[in-house]
Amino acid sequence: AACRAHNFSAGPAMLDTGAMTYVQENLLDYEGCGMGIHEMSHRDVGGPVHEMMARTSDNVRRLLGVPDNYRILFFQGGAHGQFAAVPLNLFGKGGKGDYVIGGNWSTKAMKEASKYGEVRVVEDTTSKGNAYYAPVDEWELSDDSAYVHVCTNETVQGLAMHEDPDVGPNHVLAADMTSSLFSRPVDVRKYGVIYASGGKNLGPAGCCLVIVRDDLLDQSLPQTPSILSWKVANDHNCLYYTPNAFAIWCVGVITGDLLARYGNLEEVAKRSKQRAEMVYKVIDNSVGFYTNNVRPDFRSHTAIPFRIRDGVEELEKKFIRDSVKCGLHQTFGHSSVGGLRVAIYNGLPDESLKEFVKFMKDFMDTNA
Ligand code: PMP
Repeated sequence: AACRAHNFSAGPAMLDTGAMTYVQENLLDYEGCGMGIHEMSHRDVGGPVHEMMARTSDNVRRLLGVPDNYRILFFQGGAHGQFAAVPLNLFGKGGKGDYVIGGNWSTKAMKEASKYGEVRVVEDTTSKGNAYYAPVDEWELSDDSAYVHVCTNETVQGLAMHEDPDVGPNHVLAADMTSSLFSRPVDVRKYGVIYASGGKNLGPAGCCLVIVRDDLLDQSLPQTPSILSWKVANDHNCLYYTPNAFAIWCVGVITGDLLARYGNLEEVAKRSKQRAEMVYKVIDNSVGFYTNNVRPDFRSHTAIPFRIRDGVEELEKKFIRDSVKCGLHQTFGHSSVGGLRVAIYNGLPDESLKEFVKFMKDFMDTNA
């Protein structure tokens, strides 16, 4: 077996070793074709690439329980592409977007949207230290916005929505699920559009999944670039452009593996929560040595940022150095906030997490 480090990178994150071994074994000879999936034409009607894309899409539909009136689309350009695609595809109806601000990613999404129309902040966690969201009925939703945008897991702040917000039938909910997709069940019907970039649970970077309700395919701004148009993608089965067949295949292998192993996302969610609790328990029992100020019911189950004594940088740097010496990698926080962060996406083995938790305790005993 490949020599795999304990890798806690928040993104691109470690992918499941079993799934990646399957990819490795089939890289040069995709299902007996004698060619890699990334070496075949996407114009071969009914050929391996089409079949693989249909299978991947079907896996996503089954795993998430995506209703028939939602399209499953694959884009390039990551979540950053969708930060622009959301307003471009929806601003044909009014040109206004409501944003719920929870941290770095929702802020970036809003800034991008402001290039194409009017954006409004309807809930902002900044003054609350990004520790929790107000209940949905306190969000100041506009009557005339084309959509309400949320980020269900702020990967930098570790602030998560564990329940799907209900904005009612008169609002279209758009969600960046990049760092929480496939970590819990989702009530897709509550959303108009869901997007998630590769690099976390989905697969490698280079594929961005978009799940969009079909009545939302016809309200784009005329200048929407074809590469970002949900309608163009849908009309051409995501073959208008050359698809990243390799990355889409990986999504198919990973979702197939989740279906085979867990059957549904309830089981995956149980595992994510249990694993996250192992880390939060050490933090909460550390009497202020480790700190994470997110309110317990909003704490992320996929990427957990924490500080040492609210930000003693010397100790944090030592933590990173010492963890590497113990074979535990990529535990640094996002460059914009510093500190420490441990990502526990689906692909991280339980053994790695156990080693990490043990290291946290040992480090505290030695340095408290
Ligand atoms: N949204 C969230 C929640 C993220 O975690 C990230 C990546 N860390 C992004 C958006 C940006 O994704 P990409 O760089 O693939 O565009």
